[in-house]
Amino acid sequence: MNLQKNIQYVKGVGDNRAKVLSSLNIHTVEDMITYFPRTYEDRSMPKKISELEDEEEALIEGLALTNVQEIRANRLKIYKLAIEDETGICYITWYNQSYIKALIKRGNKYKFFGKVKIKSGRIEMASPVFDSDEKTVNTGKIIPIYPSVYNLSQGVIRKIMQNALEEIDADLEETLPDYIIQKYNLCDLSTALKQIHFPESFEMFEKARIRLVFEELLLMQLKLLSLKNQYKFEEGISFDKNVKLDKVMLNIPFKLTKAQLRVLEEIENDMESSKTMNRLMQGDVGSGKTILAILAAYKAAKSGYQVSMMVPTAILAEQHLVSFKNVLEQYNLNCEILTSGISKKQKEDIIARLADGEIDVLIGTHAVLEENVVFKNLGLVITDEQHRFGVRQRGTFSTKGKNVDTIVMTATPIPRTLALILFGDLDISVIDELPPNRKSIDTFAVRNSLEQRINNFISKEINAGRQAYIVCPLIEENEEIDAESVLELVEKYKTKVFSNYRVEYLHGKMKPKEKNAIMTEFKNGNIDVLISTTVIEVGVDVPNATIMVIENAERFGLAQLHQLRGRVGRGEHKSYCILKYTGNSELIRKRMEVMTKTNDGFKIAEKDLELRGIGEFFGTKQHGIPDFKIANLFDDMMILSQVQALAIKIIGDDPKLDKDDNVKLKKAVDNKFEIGMTL
Ligand code: ADP
Ligand code: MG
Repeated sequence: MNLQKNIQYVKGVGDNRAKVLSSLNIHTVEDMITYFPRTYEDRSMPKKISELEDEEEALIEGLALTNVQEIRANRLKIYKLAIEDETGICYITWYNQSYIKALIKRGNKYKFFGKVKIKSGRIEMASPVFDSDEKTVNTGKIIPIYPSVYNLSQGVIRKIMQNALEEIDADLEETLPDYIIQKYNLCDLSTALKQIHFPESFEMFEKARIRLVFEELLLMQLKLLSLKNQYKFEEGISFDKNVKLDKVMLNIPFKLTKAQLRVLEEIENDMESSKTMNRLMQGDVGSGKTILAILAAYKAAKSGYQVSMMVPTAILAEQHLVSFKNVLEQYNLNCEILTSGISKKQKEDIIARLADGEIDVLIGTHAVLEENVVFKNLGLVITDEQHRFGVRQRGTFSTKGKNVDTIVMTATPIPRTLALILFGDLDISVIDELPPNRKSIDTFAVRNSLEQRINNFISKEINAGRQAYIVCPLIEENEEIDAESVLELVEKYKTKVFSNYRVEYLHGKMKPKEKNAIMTEFKNGNIDVLISTTVIEVGVDVPNATIMVIENAERFGLAQLHQLRGRVGRGEHKSYCILKYTGNSELIRKRMEVMTKTNDGFKIAEKDLELRGIGEFFGTKQHGIPDFKIANLFDDMMILSQVQALAIKIIGDDPKLDKDDNVKLKKAVDNKFEIGMTL
């Protein structure tokens, strides 16, 4: 069977199951076989009943002493069974699973796998999975546990997986060339797939995993490197060497930090050279990225080109517009704004002046990507907070001009080694220093039980004229279900705790206009307490806001907490960040401690990565970073560096993967990046 075939053709999948699978993003056979187990349970070694330990998960084998007995307790139906091996008796219980009655017969032999409870000598197991003697569907071997199965059981997924693997086997084509398989001693694809789902042993699993990780990372690296190479083929713009920035720099109210100067030089060099710039500018919140964007815009505009900057929200666009105008208007450069909120007439006017070349710098939201927005001669595009856009949009943006230079700004502190790999198609500049005299933000991690004291503290600050943010994790954009959670919080704070103050709220599901209105009110000081989801994470400056309370802080990534914390400490007043958390696992405590002890975004990111691994670190919403199906960049660093060296060698010898040796690789890369995978 062909890998691209719809999953419904696999034995055991009908319309209904196909629907459920599609909600797991499994549409094709290939999606299915690359739906890798989250973990495995070793159900291959039965234990004797007398050797069982309390709370362990174990496999036992024994004879049914009775038939399954049904007991009714209110609405609950309880099913009981006793089984026996030569060392003892174990009592088994299931709840509401009436079908079990028919499956077990007194006197026959079965295997059960489940959690053991020992209460004053009586050995019990609740709701175990089981097989009759000969069968090994649920027991008897190393069993894969899949990440999420909705209302399909693990058993059903396993069965479908088995069928899918059997059905494709004959048609499965090897994706890696022989020379690579041999050199790196990898196992073949067919074996790898079988062993990753149904390992015969943990050694085989390990081999299978290495092979699949290797392939996943190699294809990504080849893709990234080939993108990077493409840029080199075409001549880009050389901006005017005679447009100097020194004078402009003298006219801004502060001195650039050493790090800013270094990054500026990197940008200027790129701009002056005929190479097309693709530069990632990374800097912690408040490190001063905007001024560098402004200076680059000056250089481009004074060289006779237009500049456009894309930001995630209208209010951020407005804020940037002010900053740009402050510096650029005195040099007769025309800055304008384009968001979906402006009137039709204004928009037409801007579009006309843009095409005429009258506008030098256009700042906007994704509205600038619309087809009818046409530049006369766009030379530089800048995107701020790129993790909200994704690489595809970045691509669209740059096609608005011819071989334009690109700067991507991000405050997501990605450790440098990782960034180099993930953004293989971008050069990277890091502003690793904050401007002097920044007040650090005092951060406290407190348990929810101290709420009263926190609220008193907030009141005190508000009475002194300050404003507060309260962030909660529970509404994310497009998530219907949790909508009332933020409202619950609003109810609590608005009508009870802070009823004397002006309390408003903000979340991702509100219309941009409403959001803007609230944010503007907050900025103007007309709201005391702003309750919000993480939509406020992206940088609007409210210097008078000095308190950031984060509810359920344990649910956020550290990098994200740091980003949120960066919303305060932007003015003259002392600022505070209060992390409210529940739970007392070691991990939570450690993570909270990192936040209270460190103010350095990069250090925090590294810690976060160390504590949680990469998947969690980036969260699910980080577009632009490939979503790995099996590789774990933290654990697989060794493979990654091997793969990176190999990819560089391959692309160096054969930039377009045209050589016979690399036919398979080309096919695999094309296949992977055409279909579905966001990069
Ligand atoms: P971010 O990198 O988070 O986008 P901004 O560019 O918004 O940071 O800068 C934060 C604040 O610091 C702004 O008010 C900006 O004017 C100011 N700033 C930037 N660079 C310096 C500097 N070298 N010295 C003092 N203040 C600076
Ligand atoms: Mg910023």
